[in-house]
Amino acid sequence: MHAIRVRHAYDGESFMAAGATVLIEGGLIIGVESYEFPIPGFCEVTHHEGTLLPGLIDAHTHLVTDSGVSALGRVAGFSDEEIEQVISTALHDQLMAGVTTVRDLGDRRFCVLERRDRQLSAPVIEPQIVASGPPLTSTNGHCHFLGGEVSGTEEIIRAVAERAERGADIIKVMASGGVNTPGTDAMLTQFTADELQLIVDSAHAAGVPVTAHAHGTPAVEQALSAGVDGIEHCSCVTARGFGQVSEETLAALARSRIAVCPTLGLDTHLMKNSPPEVRAMLARIGMTAEEILQVRSDFVGRLYRSGVRLVSGADSGIGPAKRHGVLPYAVCELVTAGLSVAEALATATSGAADACGVGAGKGRLAAGCDADLLVVAGDLETDVTALHRLRYVLLRGLPVSI
Ligand SMILES: [Zn+2]
Repeated sequence: MHAIRVRHAYDGESFMAAGATVLIEGGLIIGVESYEFPIPGFCEVTHHEGTLLPGLIDAHTHLVTDSGVSALGRVAGFSDEEIEQVISTALHDQLMAGVTTVRDLGDRRFCVLERRDRQLSAPVIEPQIVASGPPLTSTNGHCHFLGGEVSGTEEIIRAVAERAERGADIIKVMASGGVNTPGTDAMLTQFTADELQLIVDSAHAAGVPVTAHAHGTPAVEQALSAGVDGIEHCSCVTARGFGQVSEETLAALARSRIAVCPTLGLDTHLMKNSPPEVRAMLARIGMTAEEILQVRSDFVGRLYRSGVRLVSGADSGIGPAKRHGVLPYAVCELVTAGLSVAEALATATSGAADACGVGAGKGRLAAGCDADLLVVAGDLETDVTALHRLRYVLLRGLPVSI
């Protein structure tokens, strides 16, 4: 048994005024006590300056992308050996940013899901993977090159069954087109309402949750009425711009408790040269990148004030400014959008854990949870940017050199 003592601590939901002493054994947290807690003599103690918190969870990543320019478009060209290396590098980069669990929402032909299976049979020092396999998409639809194209009832039923059989943690469906796939339209739906309903119903019948990629307002509304469990991006974009959605729809979204991942998180140092497909999107909307970021932030603030359940995932890996490990920026951006630091952190810890189906063992400083812990320099409660100053990482009880 060993113990970690820190003056400032965040437990996954709120800050702990009395600091914390966390007792760890066999990779698990076995007790969470106050800073002053008298520790038994046989127990080794480490003191840290700064703030202790649970390891972060990136609820939307693509481990098959290498954080380079137009990374999604290059995935199809990787050999099997190359893609394994890309996944390893991605997991390493995530861990160096304090991300100890990732939810992969789109691999190539189940390679990340297979990596998850290998993790389960032989534990390794890398973030735990929750995975969807290749996203369901329409013929030539968004990210079709990942191998998840379906057309018509039979193919939909077969694809959902295959994912359930392989033990997919979640099914991802591209309800709208995407910015990064030329020839698709982010503002339009890719499936009929009946087809999306079939995807949701057959997944739920097999006990698998569904999350829908939805940029355009029609796709968000379709996903909401189909009863999905999560909505990714939720930009509510129409030809009139971002956030074009009625108060009634937002109220219904809040009531549904659907986990909405606005995929914030942009390393602004690296966003100078946006790729051609993003520039084309900007030209079409007639806005600069800065204007879009402001409008997105305002809209996420509106989602929050409407009571929508928010989780953090960065869509990490798809470009230089969306590199693996960009998640702390997403949390900081949520604070700018109006969330308290404690609420913003919850979207990347306890809230993300619940949305990813790992709430019993991840995302909280609580007895019985995995000892995935971080210490950042400074008082996180008064300065959320401390999240960028990682000093210590423990992964299932093992220290990681950072
Ligand atoms: Zn994505």
